[in-house]
Amino acid sequence: MKETSVKRAHASRRAILKAGAAAGLVGAAGLASAGSASADGATYPAVQSYDVIVIGGGFAGVTAARELRKKGKRTLILEARNRVGGRAWSSTFSGLPIEFGATWIHPSQTLIWNEVQRLGIARVDDPNPDYAVFATESGGYARQDLAFLEHQDALLRRFVEGAEQYMPRPYDPFHRADLLADVDKLTLGDRARQLRLTTLERNWVSATTGAYGGGFERGSLTQLARWWALCGYNTETFHGINVTRPVGGMSGIITKLLAESGATIVYNAPVTKVADNGSRVQVTAGGAVYDAGSVVVAVPVNVWNSINFTAGLPAEFGRLSTETVGVPTAKKILIQVQGDIGRPLVNGKSGAPLDLVLANTDKSSQGTVLVAFSVNPNLDANNQSQIQRAITEVLPGTKVLSVKGHDWGQDPYAKGAWTFMRPGQLLRSLRAVRQPHGRLVFAGSDIATGWAGYVDGAIESGAQAAAVAANLSGAAALA
Ligand SMILES: Cc1cc2nc3c(=O)[nH]c(=O)nc-3n(C[C@H](O)[C@H](O)[C@H](O)COP(=O)(O)OP(=O)(O)OC[C@H]3O[C@@H](n4cnc5c(N)ncnc54)[C@H](O)[C@@H]3O)c2cc1C
Repeated sequence: MKETSVKRAHASRRAILKAGAAAGLVGAAGLASAGSASADGATYPAVQSYDVIVIGGGFAGVTAARELRKKGKRTLILEARNRVGGRAWSSTFSGLPIEFGATWIHPSQTLIWNEVQRLGIARVDDPNPDYAVFATESGGYARQDLAFLEHQDALLRRFVEGAEQYMPRPYDPFHRADLLADVDKLTLGDRARQLRLTTLERNWVSATTGAYGGGFERGSLTQLARWWALCGYNTETFHGINVTRPVGGMSGIITKLLAESGATIVYNAPVTKVADNGSRVQVTAGGAVYDAGSVVVAVPVNVWNSINFTAGLPAEFGRLSTETVGVPTAKKILIQVQGDIGRPLVNGKSGAPLDLVLANTDKSSQGTVLVAFSVNPNLDANNQSQIQRAITEVLPGTKVLSVKGHDWGQDPYAKGAWTFMRPGQLLRSLRAVRQPHGRLVFAGSDIATGWAGYVDGAIESGAQAAAVAANLSGAAALA
């Protein structure tokens, strides 16, 4: 990791301008970003002081900045990319608006739902699928009518049976820590074995269990149980949370929140070093050094290990980051196919190239656009012939015209997709990494106690971190 000389003295105006250029555009929040990162090799010593620095401009970081403004704090956001939103990223494909990450919201996710209502953003429901596709006894796939989904739901209910007892309070996953000790050890695969599921049954329920966890042998049963509890322990809400989308996309929401924050934001500014000297914190990004009384670290858990925290962090931080919390093999793929193939809901087998395929809300002029999710480590999300083979297996006769995917595990500023903890992480690590460490407070959907793995959890965590960081910054020595 590159070491940059840190000078506490006030930087000259020339140095600040150089630093700004090295790190990308410094802007008032809400302005469009531009410029390119040229951090490598840029070693301009400059110090710019703020009350609080927020590292990462996803929903957690931007919410933190917005809350800090309410407390009168002068806040800087340092964002590695040329956009805000992180794992929420609205884009276009085949001339249609699409999402590479977060897509759906639900009234039970009260924080994001309330923000959207307050901002006057309309919502639209995806149409229902026309038919389902499931694995068959003979090893292939067959079309089924939607009533077949009841088989999948019955298996899902068996998976999470008992969650009302061991996870009785959805926003307090530790409430029955005594009962969790045995459950939190289990992978989803362990649970399937406890239930003595046949291979066919595993294949029917994989898309709503194993695949969520990045594979049956990666994800923990308790993470699934947390989502089940948040959904009121019923399949209607469990599926209902993947139906309603905000008009204008997720990027539209966060752009508005950023504007409200009034924070200064530097794009193309990947943070490489955080030095907490006990009375102030210096943060190095793109060759520039910024100083604050406290710092909110709102980057994904999987990214923590790529930042040099010079004062050291308790071992749980490094361990969690190495083990991964965000699913490291997850990809989302947009697929343009020829003609009108209706609205399928494909449930891939365990280990299949594609775990879930569904129709995009809108059709394109060329035919149907499909949205696919994959946690298969061998799938190249932008390889059209691999995707064609995978689509032919589940929807025979369907011609793929083009694909555009994003591999979240290969993304250096995410290193994984949605949150799905592994066995043991809930009980062993979550409480530890939610504690402030010195002048640093960690935030993000990955470490939310409520909707971890969803935008709502990012907002929850960002707001909580802001409250702590505001107090810490108030107690800081003046720069
Ligand atoms: C494919 C997919 C589908 C999903 N679907 C849904 C859904 O339908 N509904 C839903 O609610 N949620 C969904 N999620 C989850 C949701 O996207 C996340 O929970 C949420 O966006 C996480 O927000 P965050 O702020 O915690 O982290 P992030 O969004 O990851 O934000 C972290 C920010 O930190 C930045 N960063 C990283 N490293 C550095 C560094 N060194 N220096 C500076 N900045 C850095 C990143 O660029 C990023 O902007 C989905 C996620 C994925 C990947």
